[in-house]
Amino acid sequence: MDRKLIYLDNAATTKMRKEVVEAMLPYMTEMYGNASSVYSFSEPAKKALAESRAVFAGILGCESREIYFTGCGTESDNWAIKATAEAYAGRGNHIITTKIEHHAVLHTCQWLEKKGVEVTYLDVDENGLVDLKELEAAIRPSTILISVMFANNEIGTIEPIKEIGAIAKKHGVLFHTDAVQAFGQVPISVDEMNIDMLSASAHKLNGPKGVGLCYIRQGVKIRSFLHGGAQERKRRAGTENIAGIVGFAKAASLACQTREERVRKEKELRDHLISRVLNEIPYSRLNGDKEKRLPANANFSFRFIEGESMLIKLDKAGICASSGSACTSGSLDPSHVLLAIGLPHEIAHGSLRLTLSDETTKEELDYVVDCLKEIVQHLRDMSPLYEDFLKKHNQN
Ligand SMILES: *Cc1c(COP(=O)(O)O)cnc(C)c1O
Repeated sequence: MDRKLIYLDNAATTKMRKEVVEAMLPYMTEMYGNASSVYSFSEPAKKALAESRAVFAGILGCESREIYFTGCGTESDNWAIKATAEAYAGRGNHIITTKIEHHAVLHTCQWLEKKGVEVTYLDVDENGLVDLKELEAAIRPSTILISVMFANNEIGTIEPIKEIGAIAKKHGVLFHTDAVQAFGQVPISVDEMNIDMLSASAHKLNGPKGVGLCYIRQGVKIRSFLHGGAQERKRRAGTENIAGIVGFAKAASLACQTREERVRKEKELRDHLISRVLNEIPYSRLNGDKEKRLPANANFSFRFIEGESMLIKLDKAGICASSGSACTSGSLDPSHVLLAIGLPHEIAHGSLRLTLSDETTKEELDYVVDCLKEIVQHLRDMSPLYEDFLKKHNQN
């Protein structure tokens, strides 16, 4: 089949915008100076760094000096959580997070548990939402940090961040949010939402890979993450990735400028996709909250089939998608997020995530649904589970 690629895995990474590449190029060619050098040749790098920081301060409603550039979203999550555990060890050793966080948060918390930190992993409801009463009840005198993601990367559910921030503030507990998926898609104000720390990453919003940021509120005691030079107020040493940072700032400002129109269009297409899938494919369900949901996310489960087989067949049809299950070292573990929303193993296994971009078209989605209908039917025809089900079904 001679079709152009259909990329529906924008929660994994995105294509860089042309304007972003153009903004970055000069800093990789003529203006390659080190921002820490004194000579005037480095002025453009220094200026670009300051201007980029100001862009993010504007977006988040904070001060420039509260923005720290990092190497990725994973680094920002690691930094915020590990440094808080260390800096506030004298006050307490308890952290509250959720069962549906990205592994950058979950594995960091598990690592801290081995060092004696106590962690509460909150349950979520069937749509992936945190229960505010449960959250508040989990706070102990020794609680130093609440870390709840802004929006989930698998099922797209948007958490009640403002309410969580208010609870954290009321109890004098720091609040970190992994906003990697939400940044640029949802308006964020760190003051209105009482967010003390926030992680974001450029490659999830049409920026370059290998650059992220950590917002850290003035007054939060934080340890240096990388020791070395005086970059990032001595807290994250290492020569600044100027081109990457400039690209990140460009991508972020474009994302915010175009947000309303883009979100409206993406939601409309996504809802078309969802309604076609649910109406035309039997035994399918939508995972995640219908309303409190990222505009570009659709996550489905199809009973009686294996997500991985579906992905391989979609790939043959030129479609990039992702399944809920992460294939680690040969063993197929169903996604921790899908299990946390209460899906049984066999249903969690047959899951598919499709995440749109502003380049996605209705024609592409219609083609995807047409392929998907055939693929699901074909896989079910070969499934002993489905055969059993039909037998039982027909007896009743
Ligand atoms: C992608 C992602 C990360 C990791 O970001 P990287 O920049 O790829 O390290 C963290 N959290 C969430 C929710 C993500 O989607």
